[in-house]
Amino acid sequence: MILFKKAKDLDKWLETRKKNNHLVGFVPTMGALHAGHTSLIETAKQENSVSVCSLFVNPTQFNNSKDFQKYPITIENDIAMLEIAGCDVLFLPSVQEMYPDHISPKIHYNLGYLETVLEGKFRPGHFQGVCMVVQRLLEIVKPDNLYLGQKDYQQSLIITKLAELINVDDKIKINIRPTLRENDGLAMSSRNMRLKEDERKKASTIYQSLLFIKDTIKKGNLTQVKQKAQALLEQAGFKTDYVEIADAQNLSLITDWDGEQKIVALIAAYINEIRLIDNMALN
Ligand code: AMP
Repeated sequence: MILFKKAKDLDKWLETRKKNNHLVGFVPTMGALHAGHTSLIETAKQENSVSVCSLFVNPTQFNNSKDFQKYPITIENDIAMLEIAGCDVLFLPSVQEMYPDHISPKIHYNLGYLETVLEGKFRPGHFQGVCMVVQRLLEIVKPDNLYLGQKDYQQSLIITKLAELINVDDKIKINIRPTLRENDGLAMSSRNMRLKEDERKKASTIYQSLLFIKDTIKKGNLTQVKQKAQALLEQAGFKTDYVEIADAQNLSLITDWDGEQKIVALIAAYINEIRLIDNMALN
């Protein structure tokens, strides 16, 4: 694996590959890698001639400074995992490299309704920061294929919208890949590293609540099923930001379901200080 810290060096290296018609597959991450991340790398490797992973803990997408300060950093382990996964290129930029003009936002991305609900509502400014970093990364890497995890469902819709806004939707194919889970169903996440033993034991309640929704949902009013799922979380000691059911394509919230519309259940909840998110397609 080749490691680049400077955008212009990576750009030069990729340029010669692209001239030879090599397809470039790209997986952006914030590091503290786990098998969910490496599953994306493995797919990028299978479907492209060059696989690129970026590792950058993006300060502009943290609306909570404590969450930023405590975000796990495990670079040596990450490099070892990427080597094992067979990743070709790691881009490991500094904040200065990513934001040479400082980190003040220059543009406001018009993300519309998508930014007003769920993560957008509970983490104000978060998706503006995501768009800032992803636009910069896409301009540097110029991938043919971008690989994202369904784990961050709303983020993948936001990035799809960003690709349209910055006119790269015809150049970059966005591939959304399934969520990898631990044996008890907990979605793999870098933040899981911060869970203490008792918190870790309770954490799979998020998955169980999603399964409960999937198993009990019926056409008609959804208030009760959401309340029961929320009660499961609260009994396990979670404080919920939301337990919602939404249209799978545009995330409009659903209270009455016709039994046909494609829908997804989404949860964000705190166990003590640690905020976890997960989701599940329901039909
Ligand atoms: P992150 O480093 O958390 O920003 O995630 C980088 C990419 O990995 C994003 O596209 C995530 O959606 C994806 N990802 C995170 N967790 C998982 C998981 N458990 N399974 C599959 N993909 C994931």
